[in-house]
Amino acid sequence: MPHPARPIRPALTGLSPEALAAWLQHAGHPAFRTRQILDWIWKKNVGAVAAMSNLPAALRAGLTESFRFDSLQHTHTQGAADTTRKFLFRLHDGRYVECVLIPANPALYGDTADRHTLCVSSQVGCAYGCKFCASGLAGFTRNLDASEIAGQVLAAARLSGERIDNLVFMGMGEPLANLDPLLAAIALITGPQTLHLGARHLTISTSGLVPQIRRLAEHPQQLRLAISLHGASDEVRDKIMPVNRKWPLAELLDSLAYWNSLKKQKLTLEYILIAGINDSLAQAALLARHARRLHAKVNLIPYNTVDGLAWQRPPETHCTAFLQTLQRAGVPATLRFEKGHDIAAACGQLRLKQETADGLI
Ligand code: SF4
Repeated sequence: MPHPARPIRPALTGLSPEALAAWLQHAGHPAFRTRQILDWIWKKNVGAVAAMSNLPAALRAGLTESFRFDSLQHTHTQGAADTTRKFLFRLHDGRYVECVLIPANPALYGDTADRHTLCVSSQVGCAYGCKFCASGLAGFTRNLDASEIAGQVLAAARLSGERIDNLVFMGMGEPLANLDPLLAAIALITGPQTLHLGARHLTISTSGLVPQIRRLAEHPQQLRLAISLHGASDEVRDKIMPVNRKWPLAELLDSLAYWNSLKKQKLTLEYILIAGINDSLAQAALLARHARRLHAKVNLIPYNTVDGLAWQRPPETHCTAFLQTLQRAGVPATLRFEKGHDIAAACGQLRLKQETADGLI
């Protein structure tokens, strides 16, 4: 007779301080243990219950019996010459998720000189199918839970030995399609008893899910928002972003104006330049008009080749002409050649290779 599968124990890295305190109280432990355990997990980042040396053995045993420590088993690190590193993790169900640690780039997100940014995934695969993106190629598998999202930050800091100051939810998946677990993870990342990173150091990047943008605008924290725009008219954006057929540009821009009415942080418009698809100077002029309306800054990213896709990167001189069109219109804009190009840092490529090798795709 087959054994029933053992239920997956919840991860300690997904527990809110309140949930941990309730468990400790129920198990008959004093309240001050909450603080001690949270410090081990989030401040000292020890990565294992066994290392929590000021806890009694019975409490360590109880924690181990009731919880797994985290949700991510590190399987692989890829490092690039420019020190961008990509970490691949195996999840409890055999799926993989990746995050990318990017050294300082003050041009990107303002006041971030000398800091490390971690690009965090929010789903396994993605349903949105943006045409330039490896994550969209194999479709959507599942959402990540809060421990799998927040755990990437702890694991990357432990593995790299670096202090991580900025997060961009721009890895695999559409974060706003997994909004409740994302907000639970953000509560852990920003909470004073947990990681305590300032909300303004967190950027959520979306392909443009209008209802969720409006909901997030009403969220009390001053999170940053970046939009994968990649087309300045519906005709062009439709070719690149299938989501545009559901929420066309006019609706998206209105939701961003609503965001602006409630938030202090400047919006960022991400725009991948693809030769012959969205890189005309007419698109640049339209993009400038949108950016000025929204008081947004623009990040231009020359297209990174993706296995299986035929698009090309425009010549550098053309990328510069596109940039200058924006700048002449008074739009703050940067042109960046993605770091980590040589390790396929674009989201989803490493996971795609591993899951293909494991026969999951
Ligand atoms: S760019 Fe983001 S939203 Fe689009 S397919 Fe890739 S992961 Fe999904």
